[in-house]
Amino acid sequence: MPHITSGSPPPPAHMKGAAMTDILIYTRDVCPYCNRAKALLSAKGQTYREINVTHDAAAKAEMIERSGRRTMPQIFIDGDHVGGFDDLSAEDASGALDTRLGLEDAKGEDLASSIVIIGSGPAGLSAAIYAARAGHTPIVVTGDEAGGQLTTTTEVENWPGGPEGLQGQDLIDQLTAHAERAGAKIVTDTITAVDSSRRPFILTGRRNRYHADSVIVATGATARYLGLDSEATYLGRGVSACATCDGFFFKDQTVAVVGGGNSAVEEALYLTSIARHVTLIHRRDTLKAERVLQDRLFEKAEAGDVTLLWHHEVGDVLGDADGVTGLELRDARTGETHILPVDGLFVAIGHDPNTALFKDTLEMTGGYITTGHATEAKRDGAATQTSVPGIFAAGDVSDPVYMQAITSSALGAMAALDADKYLTREGLS
Ligand code: FAD
Ligand code: NAP
Repeated sequence: MPHITSGSPPPPAHMKGAAMTDILIYTRDVCPYCNRAKALLSAKGQTYREINVTHDAAAKAEMIERSGRRTMPQIFIDGDHVGGFDDLSAEDASGALDTRLGLEDAKGEDLASSIVIIGSGPAGLSAAIYAARAGHTPIVVTGDEAGGQLTTTTEVENWPGGPEGLQGQDLIDQLTAHAERAGAKIVTDTITAVDSSRRPFILTGRRNRYHADSVIVATGATARYLGLDSEATYLGRGVSACATCDGFFFKDQTVAVVGGGNSAVEEALYLTSIARHVTLIHRRDTLKAERVLQDRLFEKAEAGDVTLLWHHEVGDVLGDADGVTGLELRDARTGETHILPVDGLFVAIGHDPNTALFKDTLEMTGGYITTGHATEAKRDGAATQTSVPGIFAAGDVSDPVYMQAITSSALGAMAALDADKYLTREGLS
């Protein structure tokens, strides 16, 4: 019998009275996207039933049978299959989810703060801690990926002060608790527009509207995909960009990872503890990953757990009704192709900054928000100021070079200090 629980905190005041619907979420223990689906539904005042498939093979098989997918979570509303978190989020963005839930008329709130922070990764949460300690009551808008990229990884071994290593989700939970304790308000919502032509700035969210004297953009980056039609066809049915999330489905099977950076090597190492065999496919013959990770990978290769396939690219993902069956690989030097039979493909080829919201308003360099616009405030630092005074940027969204948790956190702290100085100078605090 599957283990069923029901959950979610009481609905926000503005959602009370909304019609309740039967929502079922198949979840598992370590599952960032399950947490995001639950947070989104809770923010809409919904209660849900949960079937945790972690130690329940029958429930896992039932989920795969009902959904045809091998990715977590899977969500059903009134018996209809919605899909995974990305599908739920897309329905939320289009308004279709509100229609399903009978919430078309639900009104969001008008919220105001001297500092509104867009994004809840290490940059946004660190900005929140510093902004709150400077005497503000910052609002952190979480976005779809509450907690950011670190929630999709296991061990974080390079966070200073964590010599034993920390789980990515635990680190984010600590930063969130710290921000809340300092006085920040964390709101589950996603910003869809920023009006920077007026003061205070007006930020439109899917749920609420925000009035902000200053804004810190900490929207981070999102995993890149290869862009193959077949990759999209098999997404969730053998193709994934998150080994921590979906590796679980590939026990004793064969998988490939494509990429040559830290993410690819970490994913390959993680998968060796689950899959029967892992092939790392890289388009060159040297890795970008840091030395300690490379050494671990080479050890696994020597032990026969990993095959390193240099100078190869994925030309196509092959599959059938049950999911991925193999990859068509191309030798980057000769152009020759061959088929590699695998059950899964993990894509780890880097990230693109989330800057679409600002493409017409903020100056960018190579797709990243340009910072360091110091104007007359140069002596006050303002290293994180963007081309619009009062809007600051921090973390992976403005950093094409370092892209680490600690550097993102540091930039978040700097953005909060810069915003505080701006507010004082403008007589707004
Ligand atoms: P992100 O973590 O990307 O967070 C961005 C936030 O912005 C999210 O909360 C998202 O929901 C939100 N957002 C986006 N758009 C909107 C919107 N429109 N409205 C509201 N919110 C929005 N670094 C290390 O130092 N050590 C590691 O061990 C490590 N491991 C990693 C493992 C993996 C698998 C990956 C992918 C990355 C890893 N990194 C690691 C890199 C590290 O995670 C990033 O550098 C860091 O998370 C960047 O922080 P950030 O706050 O700038 O952005
Ligand atoms: P990354 O460092 O940018 O590496 C991307 C890799 O994918 C590169 O090897 C690149 O090849 C390859 N690639 C890019 N586009 C490709 C394509 N179309 N087809 C095939 N291969 C392609 O990205 P990342 O590994 O996701 O890391 C992003 C940031 O997060 C980095 O700053 C990293 O340090 C950080 N991070 C840190 C940790 C950690 O500290 N433990 C863990 C994960 C991530 P080339 O090498 O040929 O360019």
